[in-house]
Amino acid sequence: MTHAPQHHTPDFVGRHIGPSDDDVSAMLKLIGQASMGGLVEQAIPGLIRATAALDLQAAESEPAVIAELRAKADRNTVLRSMIGLGYYGTHTPPVVRRNILENPAWYTAYTPYQPEISQGRLEALLNFQTVVSDLTGLPTAGASLLDESTAVAEAMTLMRRGSKAAKDAVLLVDAQVMPQSIAVTQTRAVPLGIDIVVADLTGVADEAALTAAADGRAVFGVVVQYPGADGAIHDWSGLAQAAHAAGALVTAAADLLALTLLTSPASWGADIAVGTTQRFGVPMGFGGPHAGYMSVRAGLERTMPGRLVGVSVDVDGAPAYRLALQTREQHIRREKATSNICTAQVLLAVMASMYAVWHGPDGLSRIARETHAKAVALHDSLHAAGIETTTEHYFDTLTAIVPGRADAVVEAAVEHGVNIWRVDADHVSLSVDETTTADDLHAVASAFGVNIPEPQDGEPTWPAELRRTDDFLTHPVFHSHHSETAMLRYLRALSDRDYALDRGMIPLGSCTMKLNATTEMESVTWPEFANLHPFAPADQTVGIRELITDLEQWLCDITGYDSVSLQPNAGSQGELAGLLAIHAYHQANGDSDRNICLIPASAHGTNAASAVMAGLKVIVVKTAPTGEVDMEDLKQKIKEHGESLAAIMVTYPSTHGVFEDTITDLCSLVHEAGGQVYVDGANLNALVGLAQPGTFGGDVSHLNLHKTFCIPHGGGGPGVGPVAVRAHLAPYLPNHPFSEEAGPQTGVGPISAAPFGSASILPISWAYVRLMGGAGLTQATETAILSANYIATRLRKHFPVLYAGENGLVAHECILDLRGLTKESGVTVDDVAKRLIDYGFHAPTMSFPVAGTLMVEPTESEDLGEIDRFCEAMIAIRGEIQQVIDGKVDVADSVLRHAPHTAISLTTEWDHPYTRAEAAYPSGVDPLRKYWAPVRRIDGAYGDRNLVCSCPSPEAYDES
Ligand SMILES: *Cc1c(COP(=O)(O)O)cnc(C)c1O
Repeated sequence: MTHAPQHHTPDFVGRHIGPSDDDVSAMLKLIGQASMGGLVEQAIPGLIRATAALDLQAAESEPAVIAELRAKADRNTVLRSMIGLGYYGTHTPPVVRRNILENPAWYTAYTPYQPEISQGRLEALLNFQTVVSDLTGLPTAGASLLDESTAVAEAMTLMRRGSKAAKDAVLLVDAQVMPQSIAVTQTRAVPLGIDIVVADLTGVADEAALTAAADGRAVFGVVVQYPGADGAIHDWSGLAQAAHAAGALVTAAADLLALTLLTSPASWGADIAVGTTQRFGVPMGFGGPHAGYMSVRAGLERTMPGRLVGVSVDVDGAPAYRLALQTREQHIRREKATSNICTAQVLLAVMASMYAVWHGPDGLSRIARETHAKAVALHDSLHAAGIETTTEHYFDTLTAIVPGRADAVVEAAVEHGVNIWRVDADHVSLSVDETTTADDLHAVASAFGVNIPEPQDGEPTWPAELRRTDDFLTHPVFHSHHSETAMLRYLRALSDRDYALDRGMIPLGSCTMKLNATTEMESVTWPEFANLHPFAPADQTVGIRELITDLEQWLCDITGYDSVSLQPNAGSQGELAGLLAIHAYHQANGDSDRNICLIPASAHGTNAASAVMAGLKVIVVKTAPTGEVDMEDLKQKIKEHGESLAAIMVTYPSTHGVFEDTITDLCSLVHEAGGQVYVDGANLNALVGLAQPGTFGGDVSHLNLHKTFCIPHGGGGPGVGPVAVRAHLAPYLPNHPFSEEAGPQTGVGPISAAPFGSASILPISWAYVRLMGGAGLTQATETAILSANYIATRLRKHFPVLYAGENGLVAHECILDLRGLTKESGVTVDDVAKRLIDYGFHAPTMSFPVAGTLMVEPTESEDLGEIDRFCEAMIAIRGEIQQVIDGKVDVADSVLRHAPHTAISLTTEWDHPYTRAEAAYPSGVDPLRKYWAPVRRIDGAYGDRNLVCSCPSPEAYDES
């Protein structure tokens, strides 16, 4: 492939890409390639290589791109939102905004799979779990789900697993559950064959009434919203009793702010609580990202979806946090998984937890009381003017009865600068929040033609038996950081414990930890993007919709697909959406028996989990000894399943980091058998500008904007997992009940709560594409491939590189095989990963896709100096392993086995065969750049046996 000569690399491209031109020459020389063009030609099979250069608008400078974003932002109109429905105005504490949301120490961190270097965010997540657990009254809370609606859907399947009700039992949903949650849950229920009955459950208090509400069918689970979408607070204890008597479980979708004043769901019998934590300081952002939550009663924690942080100990017995009960997760359980959630919403969960740390229980209750008082003032003035409400008991939301006048009232409110919600022709609902001012109340009252009294800070107006009397957030962390100085230092202390991209390279294969440039991040917190309600009228959201349309088009241009939906808010959700599209396509063609999904053995765990959620049966295809999909086995399986073949899910380049030249054959074979080809696009960083899955045989892919397109990982989320399809699948993309533009009418339903998912972080990827242009993006891909091959070449002499393509080249990552060395020396991948911490690195991906290996992905953003530093650390570690092999050191007392070394561990008595300096400052470690792990190696099993998933009492740390 030929490239136009690059006369001038736009400034940003040169800053995003680490290696300089000279570095590139040196790297090419080392790997024995004459030119970048030559490297690409040899690495990527000719059959799939793009024949034309990527044709996007030319790259612009950083100031110019900011100006373009500014112009888009100016085309949004931010009115005071009183739409509610799960999205509320909130004041992000500035100390939290600047020191978390705008701080790379937090937003560039990875998922805390290496807990020793993630103690800060793990503590923040433990705080999050404690907030959720305390407020809902349920003992175990996870470290975030994707949004409230998907959390309701996850609760549905959790209840199905937990209930002994008959196989054909239904999910019974109260009519006042958020409409978007009902819709998302419906999307998820269809492929699982679960029926949902929506009914008014307010009067249900015995088994007979429960069965009647469910149209006479058995019930496995009940969902209520607390308070309801209409704002009403009900006592659900009778319903919970009836449900339990019938063998069903109960889920409360609950508002955490209301729960500071309301009795907890656990107190009236809920088994599960779910919801959003958005109004704890996270901007609405046109729909997200926000952290969803789930908490469960004892007995359900082991099948709970998502990640769970727990307290354990390190080898010295010091308390240490790590992800608990890992073996229940999708990446381990694959086709036996109960949920596909992988990337969650860590950064937003951290923000929400810090909102609670900042305000403490008294501050939260005060905010709730003030919010309620504003609703009372509105309620009283409406009633004084003869306007009735349907909501007798309420927290922050009223539903007003305006016969035939709903449209007129909504319009009048807009004229007064306020958005309220049209429920139907005769009803409107309006929600107040902590940001609602006296002026806002006057404005909305004027829309009804009424006056409003000053809100009085008062006690809850609902019945005494539903008022919260028990304490919450009693742990000292919620009482200790209320001055800004204290908060600032707490946040700093936590982030200092963590290793993120602001310290050094995170060479995680498959995860593409590349630069998240400041300019890309800049507009996320602009009010014109941050303060839009996802259901705001289209004419107020022109700018963000333009941005969305641009990005959809560019992703089509890049991938070769015809249509893109940005709604899925993680890769896993894109997978599910893509598989649902395949399923719907087969159905439409009368092929309803096609239910087999072929998945190579090396696939990411989410693939199999998503397939099961899409109602498909997973059949595993073998891996050939060379790492490729075993084509003979594939042919055999296709033959076996012929007419029932629905799809194959393959990752390209493969999870082995290789461009397989059999990919086009594979696609043809599956197509000939009537199946569809799903190309997992998580590895698109090896393809952008060079090859297109939509033209080399894929029918559908998901991409990970939080990998290839620069959205930061946030310590384990947010993410965006767009699903891209060829034209024949476009009618089956996700859509949304509240936005016609969000997807086709014929679509499979919503996959996320908001029409455009995590819309407020889309400017990041938009800016990346504008700053790079087609040539810059292509250069990035080439450099990523070059850097991976450079590492493979440098390290091959020291560690076998497991797989390579035809010409001995890898793609954008390489697998270092440690199994032989482990056999010889007893040194494990774990030992190497932990020893890398002493050298100042985050470990590569461990034991995925092959156990006993490390997968290294440098990305284009790491410069040659950092890449060399990594290679030298690995070589030095290889030397340390040799010492063990040579019998000079016993593995059990080696510097590897005792890694990582904390500062404190150096000050205690020293009886190791290596020196303190060798422990802490091995070769190449610059003392001025030294990163100190805060804890030593963590005993995960101990924590799983003694499960503690909320802030331990201070006494728990007392060793005496
Ligand atoms: C990251 C990844 C996924 C899942 O993406 P999430 O956003 O974490 O849900 C799927 N497949 C592969 C190959 C991946 O690397």
